[in-house]
Amino acid sequence: MNNFTHESQKIRYDRQTLIENWDQEKIHKGKVIIVGLGALGSVAAVSLAMAGVGELVLVDFDSIEISNLNRQLLFRMEDVGKSKVEVAARELSKINPELRVTPLNMKIQDVTKADLETATVIVEGLDTFVDRRWINSYVVEHDLPLVSGGMFGFLGNLQVIIPHENACLECQSLIPEEELQKACTPFGDQRKESRKKKPVDDVIPSVSSVSFVIGGLMAQETLKIILELPSLKEYLFWDGTAGVFTAVELSRRDDCFVCSSEYQLNAIPVRSAIDQLIGDFMNQLRYSFNLGKEMVMISGTQTISETSKRLNEIIDSEAILRVIDPSLSKPLKFQVYFDS
Ligand SMILES: [Zn+2]
Repeated sequence: MNNFTHESQKIRYDRQTLIENWDQEKIHKGKVIIVGLGALGSVAAVSLAMAGVGELVLVDFDSIEISNLNRQLLFRMEDVGKSKVEVAARELSKINPELRVTPLNMKIQDVTKADLETATVIVEGLDTFVDRRWINSYVVEHDLPLVSGGMFGFLGNLQVIIPHENACLECQSLIPEEELQKACTPFGDQRKESRKKKPVDDVIPSVSSVSFVIGGLMAQETLKIILELPSLKEYLFWDGTAGVFTAVELSRRDDCFVCSSEYQLNAIPVRSAIDQLIGDFMNQLRYSFNLGKEMVMISGTQTISETSKRLNEIIDSEAILRVIDPSLSKPLKFQVYFDS
């Protein structure tokens, strides 16, 4: 395993270099961040390591559980209780000793900018609404390609986001209704709960066959981005029950508050009754923008916390407010117009 000569590397990748437009040097220079080392992340990671991607950064704060072993390719019984990223890094190094692999046992929001911004591609196979939404807003902010996959029973889905070129996750109402419901309830509490028991992960029906289909496609789209080949444009839906792929065309929303150029530059206009209470106004924003209970509203440098006061006692019409929410990587900027 130590005899990794230039020649043996060449032979190792011989078959894939026969593919039209393949460039192993580009693949070798690729740096991919894999967020979520569950079923999809594991399959994608194995495939990318085998293909000779130069660097993988693995991000996940979970430990391996027995119930993961039916579908999470990199883990074995003796790994139960250990950190997913540590075990995944160990196994991926065995698959390709040339791979530089960094395990980060943390939440995506805690990864340093230096690690994130130098990525060629970010791959996510997450099961929580808050984290998926956060990554989406992050890649749009930093202009990074995102390969996003999901699975549920025999169903799977895949989407590639090239910021400012195609639709982001927020452009479409592809976020399941129940997830939107959760976002409107105190999901801070749910997150604390999920760290203890992971109910969200455990209640999703899932089988490895679907993770191979979707995780494989996620790896393929990642390789294509590294090779600078055209990406999947549609939202791809896999119905494993019928054995049918459906491609749904997506279009960018001009008023998407994450990726539209309008709201990247300008504040989002919101109307408020002249005598509206701050608490009610905040609920209005929560409802309209799927923000959580933990959202914080700021005027200038002041946090607005007196929810029983009237908004017009604190700000003038056309004032700018910033709202920080844990599901978004940067604050939303609102301009308030009072109805007289
Ligand atoms: Zn968008």
